[in-house]
This record gives sequence, C-alpha cells and structure tokens, in this order.
Amino acid sequence: MKIESLESVPAGYINTPLEPMPRLAAALGLADGLYIKRDDMTGLALGGNKARKLNYIVNYALENGYTALMTFGGVQTNHGRLTVAAAIRYGLKPILVLKGRKPDYLSGNLLLDRLMGADIYFVDTSSADALPAAEQAAAKQRYVDECAARIIAEYEARGDKVLSVPVGGQTVIGSAGYIQAVPEIMAQMKAQNIRAKHLVVGYGSTGTFAGLWAGAKYYHAPFEVIGIPIEPDCRPVEETVDFINELSEYFEMGFTCRKEDLHLEFGFDSAGGAVGQAPVGYGGVGYNEPDTVTESYIELLARTEAIFVDPCYTGKVLHGYVDLLKRGVIRAEDGAIFMHTGGAPGLWTKEHLDHMQEGYWSDEKKDHVHIFSL
Ligand SMILES: *Cc1c(COP(=O)(O)O)cnc(C)c1O
Repeated sequence: MKIESLESVPAGYINTPLEPMPRLAAALGLADGLYIKRDDMTGLALGGNKARKLNYIVNYALENGYTALMTFGGVQTNHGRLTVAAAIRYGLKPILVLKGRKPDYLSGNLLLDRLMGADIYFVDTSSADALPAAEQAAAKQRYVDECAARIIAEYEARGDKVLSVPVGGQTVIGSAGYIQAVPEIMAQMKAQNIRAKHLVVGYGSTGTFAGLWAGAKYYHAPFEVIGIPIEPDCRPVEETVDFINELSEYFEMGFTCRKEDLHLEFGFDSAGGAVGQAPVGYGGVGYNEPDTVTESYIELLARTEAIFVDPCYTGKVLHGYVDLLKRGVIRAEDGAIFMHTGGAPGLWTKEHLDHMQEGYWSDEKKDHVHIFSL
C-alpha cells in the first residue's frame, strides 16, 4: 500500500509550529539556525508525539471494528496517556497495562489517566529481578503477555474487541504518522525560508525516529535525521534497521536501509566514556530516572525560550542536540531542528518533583526567591 493512500483520523493536531530558537542560539554563542518543531503541541490530552501515531492507529481500529484500545508502558507512560485520550475521543474503551508497582502517590501522567477514567492494570514483575540477568527480560515479557491475554479474554467475554497496541505505538501503521510528518516539515521550511541539514529526535521505542528516517529518505528531505537514545540501554540499531525496511516494504517506498545509514548519538564512546561535556551520556542514568544533567537542559530551554522539555525524554534529547552543536558534530550555520516530542506532564511526577526540590527550592539566594514578612 502506498503511504499517501493510508487514512487517518484527526485525534491530534498536525501542522504543529516550526519555529526559530534565537535566544537559545544566543545563550550558546551560536549563529541563528536553531529551530524547534513543536510536536509537544499536538493537542491531544496535553500533546506529544504519540498523537501522530494514534491518528493512524485509531483509524485502523475503527475500520476494523475494534471497541477497545489497550496499550502498555511504564507507570508514567506518555504514550499511555495519549492512547487513553484517543480512545475516549473515538468512543473506544481505554485500557492501560503498566509495568511496575502501583505507586502510593498519584501524580504526573497517571493522574491524567485516572481523570480520563482509563482501566488500569499494574503488572509487577520485580520478583524476576532475582533471576540470572540473561533470563530476566524474557521472564518479565512472558508475564506481561500472560496478563495481557487474561485482560483481553475478560473484555472479549463481555463482547468487546480489543486492539492491543504495543509499547510506544511502535507499529508500521503508527509510524506512518512520522513518515508523513516529513513533507509537512519540508513544506514549512519552504514557506518560512528555513534551511536545515539536521533534525534531532529522541530514540525510545524508535517508531518516531524510524518514521522520520523513512520519510526523509522517501521524500528526499534536505535534513539528516539524528537519533538520541533516551536511556543508556537503548533498543539495538539492528532492530530499527529491520523495522525501517519493513516500513519501506509495507508502504512500497522502494529503498533499503543498512545499519551504517543510521545516525545515532549516545554521548559516550564504545568504551562507555563520556564524549560530551557532561559526566553522563545523553540517555542519562536510566529510563525515567531523575538526574541533574537532564534537569539542567530542562532549565536551559525554559530560561531561554520559555518552552518546557521533560525529564524522561526530551530533556535528554535536548542535551544531545546542544552537545552536538557545541562539539561541532552539527552546525547552527547549516540549520538544525530539534524535534520536541512532548512529555511535560512528566515534570509533575512524584520522583521528579522530589528530585528537583534540592536544585530549585533549597537555596533561596541562588534561586532568586526572596521572602518579605512583616
Ligand atoms: C514516546 C516518546 C518519545 C520516543 O518516541 P518513540 O517513538 O517511542 O521512539 C520521545 N518523547 C516523548 C515525550 C515520548 O513520550
């Protein structure tokens, strides 16, 4: 099937703004040429990149008679929040299967999930941590699959048809949203007379990176898509190569992707040493684990452009973007787009709030917080 003939629903907005970041460029001592693509403004339940994927996934669900959308993720998954929202807006039942313990304190995305009335299932796999390292991942996945099968059976017994959407909406249909984001960006560049040789984006479940890469290849974009892994243990490049080739085949795009065609930047070298200016790689210390380096980049964009990136994904991607500019791997003169994929509700997650108390609320002089009292 040709990508151009695949249909979608407008669950989230497209044509998000493409804007310059002059004050970030000035703060870094760089020429103009830094741009941001505001996919945090896709609108669906506070926005984010999963909306573009869901525009296609929901269309598929409706065309195929599904009555419920089920998806998976960490306890604070942004993708889960957007899937719940898309389900509600199209009359489907929202089901979340979250890997982890039920937190004692409701915060961040989870609060929004509850407000939207999602059915939430926590799957605690921590007992598998006692297994030998090599067996843990498979044992956990098996248990999640088992639980998912039980949940689906319950809904089906009540007459529902459940579409199971993988973590991150990482499907061929979902990635169509990012393939099709490329001509949108190219049209905006033309209309605004913007040149850009680089587009920097997060690399998580990888569907966003893969879609953009495939779209850039298919539509002959002037920019190279550079992926920044959002955790130290990222998904292997080989799997992404296979997925991109699957996209090419499914949508008859006529290209083949090889491993050496992909450009990921980790911020550490093959020996694990940091190559950037910070002691941690771009992916920080772990998936959704607070760290002060990532927080410093959240602060940087907030104080220069009044735009919020998040502690789980986009703060890390911004770290990579800025560091690549500082290291001269990419150049402001050539034009560099930062893809903002959303995630700001994660700022109000209990663990991140706790971590930021010290940096932003412990030293009143440093923080420019002053108190008068009579
Ligand atoms: C999911 C997500 C990403 C990563 O996108 P993938 O398609 O999973 O690689 C980046 N940023 C935010 C805010 C996300 O929620």
